[in-house]
Amino acid sequence: MTRKLFREDPYQRDAPAVVTAHTAEGGIILDATVFYPTGGGQPGDSGWIEWDSHRLSIATAVNGDANQIVLVPSEPMALPPLGAHVVQHLDWDRRHKHMRIHTALHLLSVAVPFAVTGGAISATHGRLDFNMPDGLDDRNELEEALNQFVESDAQVSDGWITEEELDAAPSLVKTMAVKPPRGAGDIRLVRIGGENDWIDLQPCGGTHVARTGEIGALRIGKIEKKGRMNRRIYLHLDS
Ligand SMILES: [Zn+2]
Repeated sequence: MTRKLFREDPYQRDAPAVVTAHTAEGGIILDATVFYPTGGGQPGDSGWIEWDSHRLSIATAVNGDANQIVLVPSEPMALPPLGAHVVQHLDWDRRHKHMRIHTALHLLSVAVPFAVTGGAISATHGRLDFNMPDGLDDRNELEEALNQFVESDAQVSDGWITEEELDAAPSLVKTMAVKPPRGAGDIRLVRIGGENDWIDLQPCGGTHVARTGEIGALRIGKIEKKGRMNRRIYLHLDS
């Protein structure tokens, strides 16, 4: 398995690593990586790796077999050999925008009190699909609520909880907009706000900013009707 450095510290942009495998498709597997793999609506990270006097551009990262993360080169070039010591670097500007949008979507899921059925993230905007029969009453009101969450500069933290601990706290699960997955071992909970007065608490394996103020001003974009029971709401970073 690949050690997920982006889980331990989402602000880590560079890291040394050792090449443990190549995939048949020309991908690279490292023992530890800062590259977030495509998943949960968030695109995989891009960047580059260096070894000796070589530099290889990485287009994206994806999940591979056995909890491994595969770095996908941008062009078919010679790969670093097995056992090579490399240094990996993220396209930080792009990843940080993903972190801002991702955290903003948590806030959107709180401000719109309907079940979320899907979502996606890019470096300029994100969207969530809601199980929501009617349109929004007031989009300005929603935009204001989101920007208040941002201005409150609430702390974003994460921790792990066992299934047994969750079972012992049914009221906790009840307050969560997204129910934790079961049967897969310990669950990572992401909290926005204080220990006992959180804005949002939900299971999530993604990358988040440390405080909501870092998201910056938000703007509601298009609101589309996707079927009789569904609304798609777009959210944009203002800068
Ligand atoms: Zn998240």
